[in-house]
Amino acid sequence: MGVTQIKSRHPPLFYFILFVLGMSGTVLSWPMDQKNIKAPPRRSLLKPVAHTNRLLDAFEPDSRARIDPHVQPVTLVLGDVVCEAGGFLEYVYFPKGAVLSLLTVLASGAAIETANIGNEGAFGLFAAMYSRTSFNQCLVQLQGGLVRVPSEILRAEFERSDHVRNLLVSYSETQLAQVQQTAACNSMHTIQQRLCRWLLMMHDRAETEELSYTHEFLAHMLGADRKSVTLAAQDMQAAGLIGYQRGKIQIVDRPGLEKASCECYAMVQARFNAFLTPPSTAVQGNTKGRIKLP
Ligand SMILES: [Zn+2]
Repeated sequence: MGVTQIKSRHPPLFYFILFVLGMSGTVLSWPMDQKNIKAPPRRSLLKPVAHTNRLLDAFEPDSRARIDPHVQPVTLVLGDVVCEAGGFLEYVYFPKGAVLSLLTVLASGAAIETANIGNEGAFGLFAAMYSRTSFNQCLVQLQGGLVRVPSEILRAEFERSDHVRNLLVSYSETQLAQVQQTAACNSMHTIQQRLCRWLLMMHDRAETEELSYTHEFLAHMLGADRKSVTLAAQDMQAAGLIGYQRGKIQIVDRPGLEKASCECYAMVQARFNAFLTPPSTAVQGNTKGRIKLP
């Protein structure tokens, strides 16, 4: 599966608008030093974001020296399909500003997002460890930098390096935690809480304060009907949390959005921020009802 199988759903003018929006800001900076992991800094109107990938940058220099000659930049836009459910995983994709969405697709054709991947991780890692086909459909949820590496190159590093094995297993556990939290969120929390969670995750990774999403796209991501999403967005707009105009969502009150979200956003973020730390010190996201680790 490569770029030749990628399909586009939007007219050229739409891409041009996204491109202009994407060029108007800078990118969020994530910590890279495994010995000094900190939470990502809170952003203001300007978002200082580095076009890097935390997982790829955590590889040992020897591994990077072998991988780097095979890294290929990929240009994709919002809604492009990276891999269909059941598709062959020829490459591993590392977002460097882009966000990829993993959707579980049902026999009816209905789909719902069960995880998303930003510049903390990668899509297609299972191909480097064992499986060669994707369980999920993967599409571009936020346009931005993206590179890919042939699966067999990463598989060779996975078999050669303990360090790479630990990284890929730690990230896989983090992604599994996100899938589990999202499954609970989708069935137990309100549309508005879920919409807050989703917007916060995109806001963390976007280059601007403005997110270009229609209610129809949001409904698709959240597995909800469009009317419910519109009503939730109207309530959030009335509360001064967001602005919405012609497919563009403005994050107006970030702290208010965090307060209105369910706990799922913070739980998943804590995992994302900790997956490069040694297991004994990893953040477990303690909240009411959860066992507090020593
Ligand atoms: Zn939730």
